[in-house]
Amino acid sequence: MYETSYHRPSSLAEAAQLAGEKGDEAKYLSGGMTLIPTMKQRLAAPEALIDLRHVGELKGISVSGRSIRIGGGMTHAEVATSDEIKSVCPGFAALAGLIGDPAVRHMGTVGGSVANFDPAADYPAALLALGGTIHTDKREIPADEFFQGLFETALEEGEIVTAVSFEAPDQCAYEKFRNPASRYAMCGVFVARRADGVKVGVTGAGASGAFRWSDGEQALSGNFAPDAVESLAVPEGDMVSDIHGSSAYRANLVKVVTKRAVKKALDH
Ligand SMILES: Cc1cc2nc3c(=O)[nH]c(=O)nc-3n(C[C@H](O)[C@H](O)[C@H](O)COP(=O)(O)OP(=O)(O)OC[C@H]3O[C@@H](n4cnc5c(N)ncnc54)[C@H](O)[C@@H]3O)c2cc1C
Repeated sequence: MYETSYHRPSSLAEAAQLAGEKGDEAKYLSGGMTLIPTMKQRLAAPEALIDLRHVGELKGISVSGRSIRIGGGMTHAEVATSDEIKSVCPGFAALAGLIGDPAVRHMGTVGGSVANFDPAADYPAALLALGGTIHTDKREIPADEFFQGLFETALEEGEIVTAVSFEAPDQCAYEKFRNPASRYAMCGVFVARRADGVKVGVTGAGASGAFRWSDGEQALSGNFAPDAVESLAVPEGDMVSDIHGSSAYRANLVKVVTKRAVKKALDH
């Protein structure tokens, strides 16, 4: 057994102050969907838990024109069922509805997911393809700079993800090829099309976490059709290889799932 103290701040300032006092022995707690199982397995043993669930500044979804901002404390279920998000960017709401199971969606949060940056998490694929921004209590970080490697982000110690934001594109869709046991993505692809081109975010397949598939982006910017990526080869060396699928399998999945995502975007 080890001791953990529990703290329940009601503002960002209070949360950040607590984190400053407790130092690297403290962990923020949001939905607890990742942190609590990690603690149960003794893979993490924080001396202090700073519960962010009662911090009002992390709540809320705002849509102004095509600009969307989602508070870090919003759950996946709140994102999935938001009529405001659905009205301008249905693909993003649909992605949230594919995360885990109902229990995970009702507890897990956008901020927790983005901060954790699991290599198979769904939001990073979308935020990369949408050119999104991650807001913290200290600064704003473009998604391309925020997601840095397996479980590695640009967050500094004690920094809190307060929101994510992006402009809704002209067309977009997310396609997820799930591991049937874990429900995480073996490969998930978010495509976003704007007048100035197409961006493709891929999760679950890359050995370094979510990434933008630049060859796919180039091909789809010239011709936004599933067949546009047919002749491309995804480098196997950059893919995950594990008991669930080889790197060659995942490289092929990137192409197949991208084609399905493009078809879905065109069908909407
Ligand atoms: C069975 C199961 C299936 C799942 N399936 C999927 C899936 O299909 N797709 C998917 O994307 N995810 C999936 N998840 C993960 C889920 O989305 C979690 O909600 C998410 O990874 C973590 O969010 P949380 O709010 O629960 O964070 P927590 O578990 O509370 O925290 C996770 C980490 O982030 C830190 N943190 C939390 N909030 C913040 C913040 N605002 N600012 C800075 N740091 C913070 C914590 O200190 C901790 O290190 C699944 C989880 C489970 C248990």
